[in-house]
Amino acid sequence: MEKKIEQLRQEAAQAIKNVAGTLTDLNDVRVKYLGKKGELTALLRGLGQLNADDRPRVGQIVNEARQQLEQLIAEKNQELKSKEMDARLANERIDVTLPGRQTNHGHIHPLTLTLMEIKDIFMRMGFSVEEGPEIETDYFNFEALNLPKDHPARDMQDSFYITEDILMRSQTSPVQARTMQAHEPNSPIRMIAPGRVYRRDDYDATHSPMFTQVEGMVIDKDISFADLKGTLEDFLRQIFSKDVKVRLRPSFFPFTEPSTEVDISCVMCKCQGCRVCKGTGWLEILGAGMIHPNVLKMSGYDPAKVRGFAFGLGIERITMLKYGIDDLRLFYDNDTRLLDQF
Ligand SMILES: [Zn+2]
Repeated sequence: MEKKIEQLRQEAAQAIKNVAGTLTDLNDVRVKYLGKKGELTALLRGLGQLNADDRPRVGQIVNEARQQLEQLIAEKNQELKSKEMDARLANERIDVTLPGRQTNHGHIHPLTLTLMEIKDIFMRMGFSVEEGPEIETDYFNFEALNLPKDHPARDMQDSFYITEDILMRSQTSPVQARTMQAHEPNSPIRMIAPGRVYRRDDYDATHSPMFTQVEGMVIDKDISFADLKGTLEDFLRQIFSKDVKVRLRPSFFPFTEPSTEVDISCVMCKCQGCRVCKGTGWLEILGAGMIHPNVLKMSGYDPAKVRGFAFGLGIERITMLKYGIDDLRLFYDNDTRLLDQF
């Protein structure tokens, strides 16, 4: 009996030692020898057939063998587990010394940059920023701006009409009337209104059917042409450079009287004459004027009590001059080679 136990113990110990695979393999060995129907368990059950004198001694030997095997299994179990862990660590290892993957950062679009700067400048001068719809009524787009139905300028504008009375706004000027009508009549206003506008136009280096404007308007008592000139000079020197010269030329717009074109000395050649200024030394930058009395009246303001000036400028043109971009289409092409430079 003792011999058989010893033989079995050695056999089991060897089997445990030989397990090289997984924890499941080890469990199979355990079941084979120590499980309910295991070989050592069977020996333990057979104790009853021994005579009473031998039973305790043999029982002790079986139990010792059992304990020893369980100890071996526990050790093997630990060994397999740590092997598994090592394998996993090696597998999922991250090399923290490798350079990180470079993510692509977005860039602010040059038109947005210019617009942000324009807003900053005017907000420092106490202007508010107003918005209006891009789909506009004929009334706000033309009529409230002193362009009645038969006015020739309405042909000139050549707009995208949706119905007889609704169109894609051809200018940001409708925000003037909308802002006035949102205020108590004759109350002071100092606002700019940036936004997209739409005109039937060719798509070439200097024209686009969609572009971006900023409209500005100041209304108060005793506003004069000098206020207009001073405000725009201040703005243009901040957006371009301190030494920029400003020139006003008489012009015509239906919603202002008198009206003026505002030029600056060429930022490329400092008035020497170059390709950009077509040799004149001057660049046309914006249109402006004193708000026409009819426009004030149309929105319930009294031209005998208040006066004002208005101006409009194209953000594309200013951005092209600021950054030396020579083709308008570059703004809308979404070519990252351009955008990455900002
Ligand atoms: Zn020039």
